[in-house]
Amino acid sequence: MIDKRQKALDDLPSIAGQWWRQDAACRDHWPEAWFPGDKSNDPRRWDYARAVCGGCTVRAQCLAFALDTREQHGMFGGLDPEQRRAILRKRDAA
Ligand code: SF4
Repeated sequence: MIDKRQKALDDLPSIAGQWWRQDAACRDHWPEAWFPGDKSNDPRRWDYARAVCGGCTVRAQCLAFALDTREQHGMFGGLDPEQRRAILRKRDAA
């Protein structure tokens, strides 16, 4: 199985420093939880990833990265794509 989460982390562009990737709590977890695809609209599909993100020491950096790059897929910083879009809409409207 391709480790989508690890690949996403490894493919991150070299912006804003990437030191935080070393401390990502998701590195040793089930990657499909962060990139579940569109198979289900059940909001519980994010529960596993969100729980791990909740205890991650680099959550703020991860979320900042996803917002800055407008990442469209996956869970970053404990927020799913729709939650991040809501933040970006508010940010863009300000
Ligand atoms: S906040 Fe979540 S997605 Fe981001 S590095 Fe931490 S565990 Fe991974």
